[in-house]
This record gives sequence, structure tokens and C-alpha cells, in this order.
Amino acid sequence: MAIVRTSTQSGIGMTSLRTRDRMLTRLREQGIKDEVVLSAIAAIPRHIFVDEALSIRAYEDVSLPIGFGQTISQPYIVARMSEILRNGNQLNKVLEIGTGCGYQTAVLSKLAKEVYSVERIRPLVMKARGHLRELKCVNVKLGHADGNLGLPDLAPFDGIIVTAAASHMPQDLLDQLAIGGRLVIPVGTEEQILYLVERVSQTEYRQTKLESVKFVPLLGGTS
Ligand code: SAH
Repeated sequence: MAIVRTSTQSGIGMTSLRTRDRMLTRLREQGIKDEVVLSAIAAIPRHIFVDEALSIRAYEDVSLPIGFGQTISQPYIVARMSEILRNGNQLNKVLEIGTGCGYQTAVLSKLAKEVYSVERIRPLVMKARGHLRELKCVNVKLGHADGNLGLPDLAPFDGIIVTAAASHMPQDLLDQLAIGGRLVIPVGTEEQILYLVERVSQTEYRQTKLESVKFVPLLGGTS
């Protein structure tokens, strides 16, 4: 018997409401409270972002390989970072560093008016572009660039989310935050900590240490 793969369904039962419902229940149990974030996660089919062979695991709370030594983030961390970034408010202009396969980007497209996302590995930009087109995320623009530099021409951003671990706080990203804006970023090499940085005024920032996380490293340059 031939199994036909449609553009939004792969495998059997992957898209079933029960499978996705279980993921949402788990996220609530893990402490995610923002209903807008939970709805955004519910609306984005995670299985289309991973290879067919892995799609059986797409709704488990794990990161999975996407090629080029990179991973798709765990649903919990996507939800958690989105919740921190949003802080209960509709977002206007958001910048993501580290598009990968575009899963977090797709979630952000439901939470912000405009989303810009930058990735340093060209084939991943192409991959993400395909996924976001398939999901009709029309408010997203992707770029192939070194995200350490941000996107100065499009700044300021009211939210910046970095989905790879930086060895230090990137000054360019701090400069590109709007006043009142929020940067969510993992920092560290051996031990990585998730930080929230709020820009209080032109010169003042408030930094909050949140929790231990595990991300691939934020590298320099493009490839
Ligand atoms: N946001 C993704 C996470 C992808 S993993 C998701 O939702 O699953 C992190 C990504 O950051 C990788 O694809 C990696 O190539 C990218 N990355 C690492 N350093 C970068 C840099 N300096 N600029 C842009 N992207 C970078």
C-alpha cells in the first residue's frame, strides 16, 4: 500500500489532535501560562519542520537534528522564550537570531506583527523559507547573515530572541533594542544561562538571570 505524503501531513497520527493536545498539556505542566503562546504552538505543526524519518518524534519535548550539525529547539524552550519575550503583550517588530528550520520563527509569526530572522547557514535559510511559505507565514522575512551583528538598518526591535548560545552579551543586539524592548538570550560556553535583558532607557539595561539551558553555540560569520 502506498502512503501518500501531503504537504502538511506526514506519517500516521502525527497531526492528530490528541498528539498535539498532549504536547500542550505537558507545556502547561511545565509552567507555560501564556494562552496566546500556547495557541500559537497549537497552531504550528512541528512535524513539518523535521525530516520524515523523525516526524514520529516531532511532538515529544526534545530537540531533534535538522542537518548541518544543528537542531530544532525543544517545544518547552520555544514556548518559554516566547512567553518571556511577549510578557503578555502583542509584539510589534521582532528579530530572531538563528532561524534553523524556522520553527520558532513560525511561532513568533503568530505573536508579532513583523518578524525578521537571521541564519548563518545558507541551506537552512532555504529550508526555513520553504516551511514558512508552506504555512503562509507572510509577516516573516529571512536573511542569510551573521546574527551577532543584528539588523541595524531595521532597528529598533521591541523584541530580540537569540536561539543559539552566545559566549558574551552581543553589544550590537543591545544597541538595537527599542526602549522598553526585551532581549532573550542564552549566554555561556560550558554552562549556559538564559537571560532577559530589558532596555530601560537610552543608556540603562536591566538584566535578569532565568534558568539553565542547552543550545548549539552562536558562531561568527556565515557559511
Ligand atoms: N530557532 C531554531 C533553533 C535553531 S538552532 C528553532 O526554532 O528550532 C540555532 C541556529 O542558530 C542554527 O541553525 C545555527 O546555524 C544558527 N546560528 C548560530 N550562530 C549564528 C549566527 N551568528 N548568526 C545566525 N545564526 C546563527
